[in-house]
Amino acid sequence: MKHASPAYHPERPERLLAARSALSAVDVSWERVAARSATDDELGRVHSAAFVDSLEKLRGREMHLDPDTYVGPESIETARLAAGGAVEMVDRLFAKEDGAPRRGVALLRPPGHHARRDQAMGFCLFNNVAVAAAHARAHHAERVLVVDWDVHHGNGTEEMFWRDPSVVYASLHQYPFYPGTGALRDVGDGDGRGFTVNVPLSAGGTSAVYRGAFERVIVPVLHSYKPDLLLISAGFDASARDPLAEMELDAPSFGWMARSLARAMDEVAGGANRGRVGLVLEGGYDLVALEAGLASAVRGLVSDEADDIPRNVDDVEVCRAAKMAEKLWKL
Ligand SMILES: [Zn+2]
Repeated sequence: MKHASPAYHPERPERLLAARSALSAVDVSWERVAARSATDDELGRVHSAAFVDSLEKLRGREMHLDPDTYVGPESIETARLAAGGAVEMVDRLFAKEDGAPRRGVALLRPPGHHARRDQAMGFCLFNNVAVAAAHARAHHAERVLVVDWDVHHGNGTEEMFWRDPSVVYASLHQYPFYPGTGALRDVGDGDGRGFTVNVPLSAGGTSAVYRGAFERVIVPVLHSYKPDLLLISAGFDASARDPLAEMELDAPSFGWMARSLARAMDEVAGGANRGRVGLVLEGGYDLVALEAGLASAVRGLVSDEADDIPRNVDDVEVCRAAKMAEKLWKL
């Protein structure tokens, strides 16, 4: 809440209030875990020390780092809390005690998936989901899958794991669009070749298009890769109401996507175990759509009921990108 711009900016503290009220609308008893500051070592797994230092020097200042990305007097401290909060969620998901949670939701600002190793951009300072994925790899997990359904391509996350087969980055995004990356044939390189999955979608994408991409690409990737942890870069800016993008999703679509992923993770985990799934908030700039989409996504993560999400997403439309991406990934 303390990361705020003096002039109006769509990435604003009120987003977090909408996200919190989404959680309270879902009938689940939550274990609340306070965010904590990410350490230099944790940030240093995906960011350069020089970059972390350069942001640290901005503590207490108020300025724009580029036309989109601002810092206010308490932004650096807040961004450290956001990254550390995502790390803390991962630690809780891997806690050893009986009954440790297998689903987590990290309500964090600023968002992270555009932040590069050496550059803040696209409203993002530290790359929260990447810091969390790298932490999971260091302490808990052999394989981590990041599914990014934010309407923008997570160029920072892709870049950080471009050559790394132990973290798969899979994104659905409006294309061409900000930030310009995320082409179909961008599949990683070196040992990580085939471990980046991009499904670039034309503007105007509906639930049916997303469903087609999930059924043909995203869920099969999950089943093939069998990750120990799934992190969702969960933006809600592919909503039809969002002022910054041009997709056509309604709130139940987010529930359907979350449920598909959570179910697939349960199947991979096997037996009575539930899969480990952590949702990390990214974008989403219409407060009504953010609240409704997040509430639906959380219900999709935690509910075992088959029918509590309206089934308005029965139509499946397999777009060209999904057909092509289906042939390109090799894990
Ligand atoms: Zn976005």
